[in-house]
Amino acid sequence: MKICPICKSNEITDYMGAQFGKYLCKRCGYVGSLVLEKER
Ligand SMILES: [Zn+2]
Repeated sequence: MKICPICKSNEITDYMGAQFGKYLCKRCGYVGSLVLEKER
C-alpha cells in the first residue's frame, strides 16, 4: 500500500491515470512521484 509522505495518509490515488507516474493524496492534496511504500 502507498502512504503519503506529508500526512502519512493511505488515501493515495493515481494522479491523472498514473500516466505521469505521479500520485495524488486525497487528504492533503499532495501530488508527486514520491510516495512511501508500506508492506502489509
Ligand atoms: Zn497527504
